[in-house]
Amino acid sequence: MAKSRNSKGSARLIRRLVHDLHAYVPGEQPKIKGLIKLNTNENPYPPSPKVLAAVRAAVDGRLRLYPNPTAEKLRAKLAKLHRCQPENILVGNGSDEVLALATRTFVEVAENTKRGARRDSRTVVQYFTPSYSLYPVLVDIHGAVKNAVPLNADFTMPDVAALKRGKVWDFNAALTLVTTPNAPGGRGYATAQLDKLCRAQNGVVVLDEAYVDFADAHAMALALKHPHVLVARTFSKAYSLCFQRVGYFVGHRDLIAALDKIRDSYNVNGLGQIAAEATLDDLKYYRAGFKKIVETRTWLTRELTRLGFRVLPSQTNFILAKPPLHPAKTWLQALRERKLLVRWFSAPEVTAYLRITIGTPTEAKALVEAVREIL
Ligand code: PMP
Repeated sequence: MAKSRNSKGSARLIRRLVHDLHAYVPGEQPKIKGLIKLNTNENPYPPSPKVLAAVRAAVDGRLRLYPNPTAEKLRAKLAKLHRCQPENILVGNGSDEVLALATRTFVEVAENTKRGARRDSRTVVQYFTPSYSLYPVLVDIHGAVKNAVPLNADFTMPDVAALKRGKVWDFNAALTLVTTPNAPGGRGYATAQLDKLCRAQNGVVVLDEAYVDFADAHAMALALKHPHVLVARTFSKAYSLCFQRVGYFVGHRDLIAALDKIRDSYNVNGLGQIAAEATLDDLKYYRAGFKKIVETRTWLTRELTRLGFRVLPSQTNFILAKPPLHPAKTWLQALRERKLLVRWFSAPEVTAYLRITIGTPTEAKALVEAVREIL
């Protein structure tokens, strides 16, 4: 009795929007000994020894000081890498933060999101499904309107003509979020196709390239060419720095300046800045890792296909695979019993699939062995 009175009492204190919100569910981070973790697309290889040394060297009395508020050195290095100016770069606490800043900077809050209400494109955030499952949560948190448009059945992207015919896609949406290469599908999209889509949009377009280092092509040129296009990148996946939370946008200085106005003053922690700077000084180390991951991806795709899985072509550090014989959720459990953790999503378009992160060759072999046993 007392419990229900309490929860009713506190509900009154919480904004309706937050009370009703379904929060983002991150992949599990279990502490099971000997578990092979292939569920959250982390890099199986550690950061470069030089990055570890730089972080260690920075751990001293200086931790009492605030970090550089604009990640100045890091932005200068990123500008050099992408052949632009520091004013074209905004760094965040992971790319999740820069994506959230985009909703708050470019999208009006909807006054009336009730069914039947006339939709105002200035309140609309649109994205394809399936894509990064954080997007709808960011829209809900902001109190904006979602426009989720399905990819083609094979997870390719509908072209502009098809989107026009479909009449659901909003060419005036305030913000369009495109995961490229796609997650969880894994497919890469041609820069020419992305360019066409960007040209057709009147609002801001974010190309979320979290996995692009494992792909054959990237679309950074579009952010430097179009004044309404931003590219989001992260140090998490390819650069083995999930723990440090560093991501960034590249784009027109006016968009970057607007985002910069609403970011927290010290949004990027000092050790994260140091780790990311040292990463950019040792890119050769990481490129060797990408090559290994792509090789393992090719091997795992071939082996699982032989065993009856339908594996989608991937340009990322994971594969989406439809397992044979049993439902995907049963496979998830059976693999877990063999100490292999992969990811399964309940979203209807992908419920028949498992998303498997590409680990080391040893981890990939263990997965194939476990699959053989289950079969
Ligand atoms: N974009 C995509 C498509 C992702 O899968 C992720 C990681 N879940 C992110 C962005 C965010 O990465 P981070 O916040 O670690 O930079």
